[in-house]
Amino acid sequence: MTDTDQIVEPGAQVSPEMTKSLCKDLSIALEKFPKVRLGHLPTPLEPMDRLSEMLGGPRLWVKRDDCTGLSSGGNKTRKLEFLMADAQKHGADTIITQGATQSNHARQTTAAAAKLGMGCHILLEDRTGSNDRDYILNGNVLLDRLHGASVSKRAGGTDMNAEMEALAETLLAQGKKPYIIPGGGSNAIGALGYVNCARELAEQAASTGLHIDALVHATGSSGTQAGLVAGIAAIQSDMHLLGIGVRAPREKQEQMVYDLAQKTADYMGTGLTIKRGDVRANCDYVGPGYGLPTDGMIAALKLLAQTEGLLFDPVYSGKGLDGLIDQIRKGYFDGMENVVFLHTGGSAALFGYPDTFGLPGYSD
Ligand SMILES: *Cc1c(COP(=O)(O)O)cnc(C)c1O
Repeated sequence: MTDTDQIVEPGAQVSPEMTKSLCKDLSIALEKFPKVRLGHLPTPLEPMDRLSEMLGGPRLWVKRDDCTGLSSGGNKTRKLEFLMADAQKHGADTIITQGATQSNHARQTTAAAAKLGMGCHILLEDRTGSNDRDYILNGNVLLDRLHGASVSKRAGGTDMNAEMEALAETLLAQGKKPYIIPGGGSNAIGALGYVNCARELAEQAASTGLHIDALVHATGSSGTQAGLVAGIAAIQSDMHLLGIGVRAPREKQEQMVYDLAQKTADYMGTGLTIKRGDVRANCDYVGPGYGLPTDGMIAALKLLAQTEGLLFDPVYSGKGLDGLIDQIRKGYFDGMENVVFLHTGGSAALFGYPDTFGLPGYSD
């Protein structure tokens, strides 16, 4: 027993000293999992003062996971640090993963494989039906190829897990040692990256005396939120976590996050029980569907580009921001002082959507 094994009363605030000590315990617990260094960590935590002033709500901060560095950065880098180490542990020489056409996960995986000298096969599912040249060739797809991956397409609605298994069989027969990473890198191994992020953020806040009331981010394949839920529980933080959905309806999204958060906690061997009530997703900002632009996303993305000089993406972080801004206006965060938006990256996808923003040409 260390003095940090005590449980804080529900609702009571953990002191900064105790937070630091719980964070230290968590980083020791994470050390038993192999990890390769791929990202620039810790990522900065920065105020967004012009945006805060404009919206008149709580003070807004941004956790810059768009700055993880790997092939223009993003949230998949933290997951890949654990996933690629697991692939190495299994003696893999080839990585297989899947995603939507403009998948940021695919792009970061191709870069990680290149850095570690592994082959990489990407299966891209056409979820939007768009045949726009930029959408299918530019942005993340361009970078996938630049990193040397083989890229193949599948029709929308394909069983992508079955496709990855079939490809693995083919590669095995050719004498390769394939390793399959699930879509979004979202399993208990990948989610460890966001358990670690929860710790990193709590330490950053504790070291500057900042009390973070809420953390908001875009949630898709659920590994990011699941890791954060498990990490926040492990350090007994009272931080209110809210995911903004980009695809599934609320019930389904919350269930996915909850299941993976519990699996992640079990995998860590912490004996933690995840509370269903700690899993919150608002899925009102998806619009017509995954990867399809909404007016709210366009307005939010332009607002941040023009008030904070920050770039977000049309599929995830832009819709997440739309949710954050709208919920501030609706009073969801009333009474809170500090709200952090986790910037999960994705701006490389902007070049797959050049006509979405109705931008003017040259001024003269
Ligand atoms: C993948 C992704 C997300 C969602 O993360 P999940 O772990 O899949 O829920 C959010 N933002 C960006 C930019 C992403 O690429």
